[in-house]
This record gives sequence, structure tokens and C-alpha cells, in this order.
Amino acid sequence: MHEHRDGTVAGQAPLGVCVLGATGSIGDSTLKVLALHPQRYRVVALSGQTRLARLAELTAQFAPQQVVVPTGQTGAFLALLQAQSVPQPWPEVLEGEAGLCAMAADPAAPVVMAAIVGAAGLAPTLAAVRAGKRVLLANKEALVMAGSLFMQAVRQYGATLLPVDSEHNAIFQCLPADYFSSAQCLHQGPSRAGVRQILLTASGGPFRGWRHEQLQSVTPEQACRHPNWQMGRKISVDSATLINKGLELIEACHLFELPPERVTVVIHPQSVIHSMVQYVDGSTLAQLGRPDMCTPIAHALAWPERLDSGVADLDVFALARLDFEAPDEQVFAGLRLAREAMQAGGLMPAVFNAANEVAVEAFLNGQLGFCQIPVLIESVLTQFSSGTADTLSAILAADQHARVLASDWLGRRG
Ligand code: NAD
Ligand code: MG
Repeated sequence: MHEHRDGTVAGQAPLGVCVLGATGSIGDSTLKVLALHPQRYRVVALSGQTRLARLAELTAQFAPQQVVVPTGQTGAFLALLQAQSVPQPWPEVLEGEAGLCAMAADPAAPVVMAAIVGAAGLAPTLAAVRAGKRVLLANKEALVMAGSLFMQAVRQYGATLLPVDSEHNAIFQCLPADYFSSAQCLHQGPSRAGVRQILLTASGGPFRGWRHEQLQSVTPEQACRHPNWQMGRKISVDSATLINKGLELIEACHLFELPPERVTVVIHPQSVIHSMVQYVDGSTLAQLGRPDMCTPIAHALAWPERLDSGVADLDVFALARLDFEAPDEQVFAGLRLAREAMQAGGLMPAVFNAANEVAVEAFLNGQLGFCQIPVLIESVLTQFSSGTADTLSAILAADQHARVLASDWLGRRG
């Protein structure tokens, strides 16, 4: 594809993009990158569950054809468009999960950014996959819950799945171009395409090096103040507990078809290296950059081409040092629990994810202490007898059951 200096692509209309979770942090970064390339991409569909006034502003800015709002909120949303004097024609407004799935599958958008947080993102992301689209995956919880089913749908429907999570995007960039096509012949062997292991980097979050006693009185505000990244509140808490790294470990196993033993978590406080791949010949490849999600988003949008993301170059002369250390899984037990859930397989990762979502919400609402988050998750995991995760209904039932067990646990504590 040849791009002119004004950003237009020779002989091609702009590509339609749907942004699921447009009012969130990843949604924000995505729209920032898209706004840099109006001749190349057109925003045709947006969704938001929270911050409807922001969704109305985005509607004024991008003039999408479709918007999805929460169930029962169409009237309120139209009133906001009116109040903000958003010029006509207004978009078609759909509601709830059915609206999200319809919008994700609509042929007007061959590209879908999956940036809804949590289990709520699973059905719409899967709908985009089943429509055979280019799916930019930020919603890691979808893959944690339904990894095998999800990856099978990617193959079956010929979708193009591109990881947006910065670590997985980095790993993707460090793998050989034929990694995925070499699956059949090399998957069973001790190494795959010469890959020995993945080194999944983690900043360590705001409480790196803290002892258990120090963590007892941590507040939601402290947990959400991440040293290197600006993110939504749920993933910020997950980063503080290192459960985000646990979810990412499971995500990496599915995306790159590797067992959990071949994914090693490395604490790297500077967040300059976004992950590494080690090969059997002693080579270690790394991807470096500023901690700004616009880089992996632009990569996933344009792959296999490259696109200006608006992010400044990394100033290597300004890098004082790069440190690496092992995670403390005694203090941050959620990481160990995630690995054990992946090793147990079946429905356990979905159970782990659901229990964590309930625990994080309770922590953010002041109902649960920071150190109790992994305690709650472990209690739910041990009460659960696993089963196979080969249907969506089995996965959703496990998710619901785990939420009930987690709420009961909270209830018993008064
Ligand atoms: P956020 O909380 O800032 O935004 C979440 C978006 O999802 C919002 O638009 C919100 O309205 C929508 N949403 C929330 N609940 C919903 C529901 N029940 N139904 C439909 N929509 C709903 O979160 P974020 O930080 O942008 O993260 C989004 C996803 O990307 C998460 O899965 C997160 O793990 C992943 N991710 C985020 C970052 C980051 O830097 N923020 C990095 C890597 C991966
Ligand atoms: Mg990440």
C-alpha cells in the first residue's frame, strides 16, 4: 500500500473502525491514533458503558454511523447529543450486549478495537472474531476466560488477531513472521520456531518491594497511582496486585501456544522493555519504547506496515539503567494463583478471572482490603471443581457461579 504525504492511501477509501469501549483509557488512545490518520481510517462505530457525556463528545468529533449505549440509556444519550448541539445526522443508537455484538459484527467496520474491560468484553469480541475481522485485542479477560474457544474461532473464521496489550504486542514483534504458520510441524517439539521461552516484563506496580504488613492498609487511590502507565481503575488495581501479570501470562499462553512453564515473569521497573523472546541459540530479542499505549495500538492497526503513533522516539541516551528482578510471589500471591489456574486448565482461568473481578470491585468500593484480594480468589478456586471449557455456555456458567461464590465469601465476612 502506498501512502501519500497527506496520509491518503492510493486508490483506497478509508478503512472503517469500530471502537468497543471508546470512553475508556485504551479507547482514548485508539481515537488519538485514529485522529492522526483521517484519510486512512474512519471511525464508524463507538461504544461506552460509562461517561456517556464523553461518548456524546466523541460522536460530535467522529460522526460514527452507530453507537452502543447501556440498556435503557438511548433517551438519555440522545438528550446529551441535543444538549451538546451535536450536528445531524445522528448515529443509529443500539443498546446493551446484543447491540455490542451486532455492532462488532457489522461489515461497515473491518477493524474492531476490543477495549471493553472485563468479562463484559467476551461476547462482543467473539462476535468480531466470528465475523472474520481484524481484531485489535486489548480486552485480555476475554482470552483468559475462553482462550481455547477464542483461538479456535480465530482460526475457523479467518480473523486476524493482533495483540494490543503492550507485552504481547512486544512479543509478537519479537517472533519470526512465520511463527504462526509453523504451528503444525513445530508445536509438539521442545521448542517452537526456536523459541525457548518468553520473558514477560512487569513494572512491579506501585508497591514493588513492599512487605505484606505494609500492604494491609493500602487505599484504592494508592493502588490506582501506577508509576509508569495511565490506565483504567480495574487494570490499575490488577497491576498493583500483580494479577494483571497473571492474566497476561494466561493471555500469552493462548496467543503464542506455549505452556505456562515457558513464560517467565520478570520485574523491570523502568517499563522500557515491553517483553522479550529467548531463542535456543542464545539470542534474546526485546522490544523497547516509551510506556504509551499509542505505540502498540498503531502497530496493531497498521501491521504489517508501520504508522506514526504520535509517540516520541525513545531517547536511549536518557536511559540511566535497565533493572530486572524476580517477582515476590509470597507477597503477591495472585500471580501464583493465576499460574496454577492456567496449569489446572479447563474452566479454572475463567473462575480466577471472575473471582478477581468481584474482588477488585469490592476493593475499589472499600469493602475489601488489598491483601484480601488473593485470599478471596484462592477461596473461590478451591471451592470449584473444574470442567472442560469447550462451550461458551459452560464458560459463562462458571463465570456466574464463581461470582456467586465470591459474593458469598464477601457476605460471610459481613
Ligand atoms: P477503562 O475502565 O478505562 O475503560 C473500559 C471501557 O469499557 C469503557 O469505555 C467502559 O465504558 C467500557 N465498559 C465497562 N464496563 C462495560 C460493560 N459492562 N459493558 C460494556 N462496556 C463496558 O479500561 P482500560 O484501561 O481502557 O482497559 C480496557 C481493556 O484493555 C481492559 O481489558 C484492560 O485490561 C486492557 N488493557 C488496558 C491497558 C491500558 O493501558 N489502559 C493496557 C493493556 C491492556
Ligand atoms: Mg500489559
